Amino acid sequence: MTGSAFGSIHSALHSSAVSVVGNVLILFAVVLWLGLGFRVYRDARRRIDDGWLVGLATALGFGLPYIGPLVYLLFRPLETLADTHAREVELRALRGHLLHGAPHCPVCLTEVETDYLVCPVCTTRLREQCPSCDSALDPLWQACPYCATPLTPHVADLDAALTAEVAVNGNLAHRPAQRLSS
Ligand SMILES: [Zn+2]
Ligand SMILES: [Zn+2]
Repeated sequence: MTGSAFGSIHSALHSSAVSVVGNVLILFAVVLWLGLGFRVYRDARRRIDDGWLVGLATALGFGLPYIGPLVYLLFRPLETLADTHAREVELRALRGHLLHGAPHCPVCLTEVETDYLVCPVCTTRLREQCPSCDSALDPLWQACPYCATPLTPHVADLDAALTAEVAVNGNLAHRPAQRLSS
């Protein structure tokens, strides 16, 4: 009798210990499941712009315990939205710099101001001086835009002047169309 009583107490203790361990394991599994699902949701929000797709990823993360997050990990976008945004800003800045970048000397590529007459580094002639108001003028201009004085362009080589102007402005789009047709 005592033996079986000990045995039943032992088995009761044992089974309760097993059930405690089992409950802890189940709790751990549930916490891990919810934690992974929540991580999928947060990660999807950082990487996906489309609300529907974020919902789909979240449903995958919560709906398929442990496997859903793995599947999401395989198919998630490589870049976060912040990365994409930063890259776009960088590209736009680069493009803007190429199109409307600071003018530079066509010979030594030093950055120059638009009102410089010569390059301060290699003394290349960049602009002509208005005989009336002393403004720095493009060699191609027919009149001074500041004082309206008509100019007689003394440019012998139009091609060279155009090349120099494009190099100084760094922008083909600013080339005056009427000079090309004349
Ligand atoms: Zn120069
Ligand atoms: Zn002038």
